[in-house]
Amino acid sequence: MSDMDLSRRFFRFIFVTGWVTLAAATGQVSAAKEVPPFRESRVPGGVAWIDLGPSTNLKPNATLDASRVWVLERDGRWVAISGIALATTPGAYQLQVTQGSETRAVAFVVKAKSYPVQTLKLNRAMVDPPPDVMARIERESAHLKTVRSTWRESEVTNAAFRLPSVGPLSSRFGVARVLNGKPRSPHAGLDIAAATGTPVVAPGDAVVLDVGDYYFCGKSVFLDHGNGLLTLYCHLSEINAKAGATVRQGDRIGAVGSTGRSTGPHLHWTVYLNGIAVEPELFIPIAKR
Ligand SMILES: [Zn+2]
Repeated sequence: MSDMDLSRRFFRFIFVTGWVTLAAATGQVSAAKEVPPFRESRVPGGVAWIDLGPSTNLKPNATLDASRVWVLERDGRWVAISGIALATTPGAYQLQVTQGSETRAVAFVVKAKSYPVQTLKLNRAMVDPPPDVMARIERESAHLKTVRSTWRESEVTNAAFRLPSVGPLSSRFGVARVLNGKPRSPHAGLDIAAATGTPVVAPGDAVVLDVGDYYFCGKSVFLDHGNGLLTLYCHLSEINAKAGATVRQGDRIGAVGSTGRSTGPHLHWTVYLNGIAVEPELFIPIAKR
């Protein structure tokens, strides 16, 4: 999670690193003829497109670390679209692929990427939750883990997203955080700074998977775009979505706020693929950022 306080204090830092991120992303655009719904980036926190052979054969089932991976058909080939965890050590990895009665391993290589580091000093209560909320945090963490592992088979997954709200991108995905001298989890989402009440919309067609009010995330909505592609919206001031409802790209699902562990209004947006948080900006056409 993130908060505006951090964002403001490090605005200049993020402004500079933001352009580095943008330049790196621009270099990763796939060949024009492929017209992908989004871009590939085989780095920790990125997304790998892995060729699984001609689509004249039976559709394969692919898993990474026992989690099911999205497989789609493109240009006459089966392609696995797999999230790569931020904590991944660069090197060779394998997808387990089952096709009919045959099972094989398909290798792919994850390259290194260095994300910026933020060193922050914060009020201790902001960093370490008080002991009396630990039971609540554990309960919510178990629930959200189940939500994140949801798999809904879908004929079509629209992964060509639009930004879910309007405002400056105030904290980018992957930024490593050192709070009061202790390394903490890197920033697993993208923050959009906007005033309380600014509409939050579905970035693509989806089913509303979960709504709740959680300790860290505050008022939250989870969307399921099918085939293991999920998105999460945190710190909302209001929720305008009901679990189980179908939403189309651009439909309002809530409004920006500062609920949960946040010190100022902003939208924290996470994109999950096969249960892994990945770079949301890979799903946004560069011209629309
Ligand atoms: Zn955030």
